[in-house]
Amino acid sequence: MNSVEILSKLEEIVGKDFASNKKEDLYIYSQDPGASIPRPVDYVVMPESVEEVQQIVRYANQEKIPIVPMGGGLTLSGLVIPVKGGIVLDMKRMDEIYEINEMSRYALIGAGVTTGQLLGYLDENHPRLQPPVPDAPPSATIAGNALIHGSGYLSQKFGDHGAMINGLEVVLPNGEICKLGSCALSDSWFTRGPLPDFIGLFTSSFGTMGIITKLSIKLFPKPKMRDIVFGLAKDPKILPPLINKITHTDIAEDLLLGIQDKPDWMKGYVFIIVYITGETQGELDSKLKILKKFYRKGEARYMKVPPRISEIFLEKPQFAAKAADFRKGGGFEYVGSFIPLDKIPEIIEIGSKISLDHDIVPTMGARLIGKGHSAMFFISYSFNRADPEDVANARDALHETDKAVLELGGIPWKAELAGQKLILEKLDPNYKFLLKTIRNTLDPNGIMNPGNWEVE
Ligand SMILES: Cc1cc2nc3c(=O)[nH]c(=O)nc-3n(C[C@H](O)[C@H](O)[C@H](O)COP(=O)(O)OP(=O)(O)OC[C@H]3O[C@@H](n4cnc5c(N)ncnc54)[C@H](O)[C@@H]3O)c2cc1C
Repeated sequence: MNSVEILSKLEEIVGKDFASNKKEDLYIYSQDPGASIPRPVDYVVMPESVEEVQQIVRYANQEKIPIVPMGGGLTLSGLVIPVKGGIVLDMKRMDEIYEINEMSRYALIGAGVTTGQLLGYLDENHPRLQPPVPDAPPSATIAGNALIHGSGYLSQKFGDHGAMINGLEVVLPNGEICKLGSCALSDSWFTRGPLPDFIGLFTSSFGTMGIITKLSIKLFPKPKMRDIVFGLAKDPKILPPLINKITHTDIAEDLLLGIQDKPDWMKGYVFIIVYITGETQGELDSKLKILKKFYRKGEARYMKVPPRISEIFLEKPQFAAKAADFRKGGGFEYVGSFIPLDKIPEIIEIGSKISLDHDIVPTMGARLIGKGHSAMFFISYSFNRADPEDVANARDALHETDKAVLELGGIPWKAELAGQKLILEKLDPNYKFLLKTIRNTLDPNGIMNPGNWEVE
């Protein structure tokens, strides 16, 4: 079939307004806000229903056209830019909020529901509940974020967002619908198990195993009050025992680290940012008191900040966005990596060195995940989008960081193509065997986001 016939079939499925192969429509889908080199896209299609997704997948199989599912397209690591052309399946129209279950605390939503949309909906209709959302722009989707093991302000307490998926409705690569979790045998989407856990197949697999059309995500009680406590550490070596101590208690809702060489007053310090919550001011006061004691005994310093600063940080942690413009031209991409707590001092040293070697202002940070079980540590590299050499410099720094993280025993998170290759080189051979076998079985025509997680 030629491209005119393919487009006409896609238009027949989703309607003329929601399929295109016009250059001006494809342009934005051929790139993302990170440092990846743009790659060509052949079609963009925006389905509205699971039946439309099924028809598209069946047709793509018949014609052997690659499909890349996309939410907000905001990972920064180029994950929704097709590697081998084909269709970008933009899920934004599947944005229905089907159910908010107050009793079992979950939201059943379409894959196109954005974090901003769910936050707004809950604020208005269920103000005592809060969803697991990242600090990403509000157009990021709940599905896209949970599917890459994203993290947010609830992750210190409850784990990464992949762990918060209760159930999925998936269109498999053969076009069949599969339900996973309690929804596979009940009308209630309240839990993921106890069943053989295949939801994991669809997380961090970057759209290579199927297309998620619906998901149930856990919701959490929203505390009445929230405050922020800043600490300062000069020597990164004190961080693992101090964080271990804090996360041994129920004091911190969220725990972040920030390390930046700019502005000058930040240089040489690690900023420890702890969010505390409670039902009363008394509860917050007692948490603050204990934290101050931990800081004192852990050789860190409590840092009192003006209410104006607290308010800004309570709205959203500020580091990444400000750092993005260090080089002007507004570009930044980071290697986020999952590392064990005790590696934090080492990774700070590595991040500083790679940044300075690339003439980039060191900008790093971390978010604790699951009560100190791991940390998502990011090393961010800013670049001038208007200067191709500068973008290449950032790409080089990112690649070096991926290598260093793997050497350290960490795992690069939402890794871009080059990072995925490095991971695969190091991965246990039987893990690779499983990955390849499952993928070939589910997707014999290799249409699902080919080029990603490709085992030789
Ligand atoms: C300023 C800034 C701050 C950020 N802060 C955070 C943060 O605090 N925490 C965090 O976790 N991330 C953060 N991010 C990274 C990223 O933006 C988020 O993780 C975001 O939520 C990803 O969601 P998305 O909808 O953009 O996903 P996309 O980029 O659209 O997709 C992510 C992956 O999931 C796949 N996918 C998407 N939808 C489907 C589907 N329906 N079926 C199958 N596969 C699918 C895609 O193919 C891709 O591989 C930040 C990014 C920026 C720019």
